[in-house]
Amino acid sequence: MTRIAIIGAGLCGLTVAHKLKSQADITLFEKSAGFGGRLATRYADPFYYDHGAPYFKAETVDFQTFLQPLISAGILAQWKPRFATITFENDRLSTKIIGLDSVYIGLPHMNAIGRYLAEGFACERNTMITKINRNSNANCWNLIAQDGAVFENFNWVVIALPTEQSTALLPETIAFYQDIKYRKMNSCVTLMLGLNAFDDPGYDIGFIHDSEIEQVILNHHKPDRIMPASIVAHTSRHWLASQKHLSKDDYVKILLPSVQKIFGFDLEMIGHCAGHLWKYAGVKSQEKLEPLIDTHQHIAVGGDWCAGGTVEGAYLAGSQLARSLSSCF
Ligand SMILES: Cc1cc2nc3c(=O)[nH]c(=O)nc-3n(C[C@H](O)[C@H](O)[C@H](O)COP(=O)(O)OP(=O)(O)OC[C@H]3O[C@@H](n4cnc5c(N)ncnc54)[C@H](O)[C@@H]3O)c2cc1C
Repeated sequence: MTRIAIIGAGLCGLTVAHKLKSQADITLFEKSAGFGGRLATRYADPFYYDHGAPYFKAETVDFQTFLQPLISAGILAQWKPRFATITFENDRLSTKIIGLDSVYIGLPHMNAIGRYLAEGFACERNTMITKINRNSNANCWNLIAQDGAVFENFNWVVIALPTEQSTALLPETIAFYQDIKYRKMNSCVTLMLGLNAFDDPGYDIGFIHDSEIEQVILNHHKPDRIMPASIVAHTSRHWLASQKHLSKDDYVKILLPSVQKIFGFDLEMIGHCAGHLWKYAGVKSQEKLEPLIDTHQHIAVGGDWCAGGTVEGAYLAGSQLARSLSSCF
């Protein structure tokens, strides 16, 4: 059976694994302890935060069909959050509810999705791949991890990572190397705030105008979340671009007053507060790209950046990668 190494167990890599599992012998390589990549959850007991993608949409029938088993297994649910736009006029807060739109969330948290999809696959977790070498004589790939471990004899390598992390691994001789190198991703900071007392502001997700904070999510309002108030606030990607000199602690100091201005809580009520820098949060260009496959050297590259920088985009890129690969062996 064809042996495939998939580097990156986010939704794109996990989709490739699922679609090819009957045709190939697959091993997943993931640098983190958990699966799902940016479908992530941070625990700071008793507070829980889905601090990556807070929710997602499924607009294509293909993605909706893929999600059905997760819904049946109780890993995924639909949520109709109360969306609001928030503006400050002369420092006065104005909130406008903008209607209900159904989205998907993971149960009990977003990271359940990756955990569920990785079940049954051979996985090397806590394994950051730092180099891939092609053995042309044996027509196979060897992978080298940060700790020096070597994984040998793969017929194909699939790289399912953000663009900068992909080019760090790709040999420059690969034909599409330059296409990926100049496709940059943008960053954002996420503030996680646990409060021991908090009043319902009348919405679940707020989009903020003219603030360094772009979006706030009341994580504890999601269905089946039994926990004290756990607020997630994402900065705008434009704001972060102008703040590169700041440290992680600076981000928290600057962003906490901005979140307090939105909700007006008492600082004494803070039970937990932390920041997270997402170096590769989303895509700069919405331009779509076909997943990239070198049929001569047996290497394939894809990720959400091929299809709009969303969870559904990561799935569609993985699905298309798997379709193209399945005709190669
Ligand atoms: C703050 C934030 C908010 C977002 N909001 C939304 C939203 O509202 N709706 C939406 O649809 N999308 C949203 N997204 C985007 C969405 O999360 C991503 O588009 C999607 O999850 C990307 O999946 P992926 O598989 O392409 O990449 P990733 O999820 O990034 O997966 C890549 C995986 O590779 C691993 N990895 C990296 N380097 C190596 C290496 N060298 N060796 C081994 N493993 C490695 C990483 O740990 C990761 O698990 C958001 C993202 C962020 C960060």
